[in-house]
Amino acid sequence: MSLSTKIDHLLMDMDIVRPIVIAAMPDDQELRARTRRMISLLESIRRSPAVPLATYTWLSHLMAQFLDVEHGALLKPAADGQVPDAAKTAIESHADARQHLLSEALQGIPTTQMLLDQSCTRIGRSANKDTPLPERARHLDTLLHEHLQQDTAFRHELQQLIAAFAPSMNAIASVVKQVGEDAPELRQARDILEQELPADAEEARALLHAARQSILQAGVTLATASEKLSATIQEQVEKMSALSTQLQQAESEARNDPLTSLPNRRQLAEFLKQMKTDDFCFLIIDIDFFKNINDTYGHDVGDEILQQMASILQEGIRDSDLAARIGGEEFCIVFPATAIDIGMALAEKLRKNIASNAFHTQRGDITVTVSIGVAEQSGAMTHSDTFKAADQALYLSKHHGRNQVSIAPAAQ
Ligand code: GH3
Ligand code: MG
Ligand code: MG
Repeated sequence: MSLSTKIDHLLMDMDIVRPIVIAAMPDDQELRARTRRMISLLESIRRSPAVPLATYTWLSHLMAQFLDVEHGALLKPAADGQVPDAAKTAIESHADARQHLLSEALQGIPTTQMLLDQSCTRIGRSANKDTPLPERARHLDTLLHEHLQQDTAFRHELQQLIAAFAPSMNAIASVVKQVGEDAPELRQARDILEQELPADAEEARALLHAARQSILQAGVTLATASEKLSATIQEQVEKMSALSTQLQQAESEARNDPLTSLPNRRQLAEFLKQMKTDDFCFLIIDIDFFKNINDTYGHDVGDEILQQMASILQEGIRDSDLAARIGGEEFCIVFPATAIDIGMALAEKLRKNIASNAFHTQRGDITVTVSIGVAEQSGAMTHSDTFKAADQALYLSKHHGRNQVSIAPAAQ
């Protein structure tokens, strides 16, 4: 997967997850702030196609960490919860500047090559294009040695040519410094290039030789710096993936009941909202005398029973149905596109299955029964009407002695 696709996926994940995180953890300011920061950062990356993504990501993240604490502080959301526009602009222009330096620096080596070739041409000799760079430089040295002794006009031109190296030197130095490396050879090369060429030909030759060596060495340092840079980018991408997993987990916790892992009321509401059909059968299942179970065997055993009950419900439904825990010992099942007689039959089968198979707990086998209310949603009924109807049906089951299935009064 490309970095760009990864960032897009992360952004999508975060967009979906952020409101859920806020709803689930309204007090976790730190997590909220981090989510907000990640989203605004990723959005700014996506908005800037001109800046290579990898560079942008690296710059934006590292800025707060070790490059530029000031910009890191700017990223802090204002009182209205937004990252101020001024901060975003500052970060973008900062990144632009560094990107510019980087690309200039990366061109440093070909530039060196070109300048050496140009120098050869100017003194009337042609450089062999297939000769490696160090050899070409040596060749130029020899030619310079001869020419410097005769041609003072050329010396001046050469001086100008050398000055043209300076921006590349500066760019390389910036990149190297940004990844925390030191490059003394760059300082050395710059010092040499800032000097007037000595009148003595031999001394001038030696000086140029030293500058050339420094430039070649700087190329090596730049390569190391680039490697370090890409490792840092990789690290940041991994951190983002970890955050995404963390958010995914938060999402799951916000939509599922922690004790049984069944969907909770929130997920039930989402399911009903997204359902393709308006017709469905709705079951409310309530454990009979559950309080007695808790009182007799303890709360832990009660929990075990709730967990096993969740498994029974989950295993008894199709992929298109939904079982959820909607209260302490209250569950529900939605059977989409299912007629009431089928719903009743399914409920009866479930009731019998529960009543005839003991639950295995730490306090031995315990028999549990459930009362079930069934309602059918059709026509102009709202979800809330159906819910109420199933609740009334449940009441009838309880009222008539429990361990039974009843239908909503209106549908009888
Ligand atoms: P009924 O047959 O009328 O439904 O009687 P009941 O005892 O099941 O109903 P009641 O509403 O009086 O009690 C429900 C009990 O469920 C009370 C509460 O302590 C228990 N409960 C709720 N949530 C949990 C839970 O997460 N774990 C355990 N162990 N018990 C729970
Ligand atoms: Mg009960
Ligand atoms: Mg109850």
